Amino acid sequence: MKIHEYQAKEILRRYNIPVQAGEVAANPAEVRAIAEKYGRAVVVKAQVHAGGRGKAGGVKFSKTPQAAEENATKILGMDIKGSTVHKVLVTDAADIAKEFYLGIILDRASKTLTIMGSAEGGVEIEEVAKDTPEKIIKVQADPFLGLGDFQARELAFGMGIANEKVNGFVTIAKELYRAYCDNDAEILEINPLVITEQGEWLALDAKMVYEDNAISVRHKEAEDLRDLGEEQPAEDEARRAGLSYVKLDGNIGCVVNGAGLAMATMDSLKLYGGEPANFLDIGGGAKSDRVTAAMRIILSDPNVKAILFNIFGGITRGDDVARGIISGLKEVQTEVPIVIRLVGTNSEEGRRILEEADLKSAETLMEAAQKVVAVAKERA
Ligand code: GDP
Ligand code: MN
Repeated sequence: MKIHEYQAKEILRRYNIPVQAGEVAANPAEVRAIAEKYGRAVVVKAQVHAGGRGKAGGVKFSKTPQAAEENATKILGMDIKGSTVHKVLVTDAADIAKEFYLGIILDRASKTLTIMGSAEGGVEIEEVAKDTPEKIIKVQADPFLGLGDFQARELAFGMGIANEKVNGFVTIAKELYRAYCDNDAEILEINPLVITEQGEWLALDAKMVYEDNAISVRHKEAEDLRDLGEEQPAEDEARRAGLSYVKLDGNIGCVVNGAGLAMATMDSLKLYGGEPANFLDIGGGAKSDRVTAAMRIILSDPNVKAILFNIFGGITRGDDVARGIISGLKEVQTEVPIVIRLVGTNSEEGRRILEEADLKSAETLMEAAQKVVAVAKERA
């Protein structure tokens, strides 16, 4: 889950990483009031989850409260990469001497947290990685020892940081690492991390992504940081219904219990020339309401031409799923054809319920996959 810059900066503050004073506002008058209170030049910054706000015109230096208000009028309501700006952050303007990049990601290849630094700050790091990868310095933290001072210094020297600024940088890098681990982040990035004309380190921008699986257990407090306006309504509904759902670009909706079975189902569709519209795991013990939610979510995607249910009854009972499909169909009222493969616990009972409701079921996954690909093609 992504959070906004102002929220990520709040976390950085807790780790004593230097951040400009700032306040969030939702209308130009509030922005003006904040700028008047500060009594200095401010920067008005769009709070959306998309990056590259500066390039899109969503970050504006404002010398006077009047200018801040005018800039806020321009930025609020603006569309940045599909997100509408509803809030802006008004911060103290900094005088930048030098911009750097500092970020932490989980590198699955090396199975470590990788800390990356670059003297090419302020530019999107993906571009630097593509054009001049040698300008990104990387160190890998030992999972047991954490980020060592020597590693942070190695970054600093590689980034060309002046000797007298290295200690300050080491502290920031180590605190960023601590913030990353404490909060179960997936990405935590400062871009740009600057040295001001006054010679101080300052995190001018912050980006943070929480590891989704950590939120429901270890970081319930992060729920308050969620911005529903930035999330797909279908994904939000799936999360609330306890379903694991990922939208894809194909036209065959899949309702499956178990992540492994969901992967196998998608592979089977591909094998017969079909394209899955989603990955969806309704989990074990799926009851009618979850099945109904799954159908609602899948049918909210206009690309879906056919739906495949692939249920392996273990804890999940076939008759429950069959009833769920029938009650779901009553609620969502769709013309989209459905193919159902039901095996395992109470599957005979489930198939009988389906037959009574005139719904077709298949015996094997291969048969079901072929059937659903054929009907999706007919309707494409
Ligand atoms: P992004 O474009 O979404 O990454 O937004 P940033 O917060 O990184 O801002 C984009 C750029 O605006 C930065 O790289 C800076 O060059 C500039 N900027 C942001 N805040 C300030 C500031 O306080 N003072 C000055 N002079 N420039 C700023
Ligand atoms: Mn930035």
